[in-house]
Amino acid sequence: DEKSVTVLGLGAMGSALAAAFLAAGRPVTVWNRTTGKAGELVARGATEAATVEEAVRASGLVVACLWDHRSVHQTLDPVAGALAGRVVVNLTNGTPGQGRELGAWAGEHGFALLDGGIMAVPPMIGGPGAFVLYSGPEEVFTAHREALDALGESVYAGPDHGMAALYDIALLSAMYGAMMGELHAFAMVRSAGVAATGFAPLLQRWMAAVGGFQDRTAELVDTRDYTRDVVSNLGMQAAAYHNLIDAAHEQGVSPELLAPLYPLMLRRTAEGHGHEDNVGLIELLFTRRRTT
Ligand code: NDP
Repeated sequence: DEKSVTVLGLGAMGSALAAAFLAAGRPVTVWNRTTGKAGELVARGATEAATVEEAVRASGLVVACLWDHRSVHQTLDPVAGALAGRVVVNLTNGTPGQGRELGAWAGEHGFALLDGGIMAVPPMIGGPGAFVLYSGPEEVFTAHREALDALGESVYAGPDHGMAALYDIALLSAMYGAMMGELHAFAMVRSAGVAATGFAPLLQRWMAAVGGFQDRTAELVDTRDYTRDVVSNLGMQAAAYHNLIDAAHEQGVSPELLAPLYPLMLRRTAEGHGHEDNVGLIELLFTRRRTT
């Protein structure tokens, strides 16, 4: 059946992916390293394959959602011959370099690869909030887009197999910075015996006030002009930032989520950029001569 899809890996995410393909009316074959995870999916119409090879041979489109890059190779290497002529969509989290390696390996074995990044948690799969990044040959993406749209909005990140992972990791990096900043804030109020639920409305209000400036930040990053319309300069922020660290110590809270930013602020200020926007800190983050 040309509509059929194989899903390798039935962890929390792989199971959600398989369920979404079933909900979209596709014949689904599933495989998991450890047996006993397919029961619910089989009850909803999926076919459980006994081996990876059997699973791969069941569909032209093979979706892998495993633990890491190594487990993807451990699973696919032995069946590389059976993959020839098929399309593999790897939705296992990885680095851009791993995506490129897998793309080259796919080329050597005569199958097409889309490397992807899932921007959702399992309950969001198939719902309106989910999107999934894909990189690899555009014609392969276009040919399978309709099937992949069952998981969430499909976003094409370009032909370079590393780009989906690059965007995925960039987005996750932003998420962790923001979430862990909020966690530190909650630790501060808990250290004072205040209920987090009582503080949450203030946090929501503040994050709404200071968020949403991505377009302005992007403009400064692209133009590398950090002097335009500065309302809150870096030097002033650097002078006050030590209060964040001192206050944490006063309250018996570790400042380790906040601390790494401080030396960067001091360095940039010492280099004569104290009057500029803090977006200029980006210039300190490149560890190799950069391209663009
Ligand atoms: P789980 O821990 O729930 O599942 C991991 C899966 O990987 C299991 O099916 C496991 O099989 C399999 N596995 C592990 N090692 C191997 C191996 N050596 N060979 C074959 N299979 C192996 O993780 P998730 O399903 O949540 O995550 C899967 C991928 O999806 C990860 O890369 C994750 O980063 C990504 N992802 C997850 C999100 C989430 O919120 N859950 C969000 C976005 C991306 P077994 O049952 O046999 O152990």
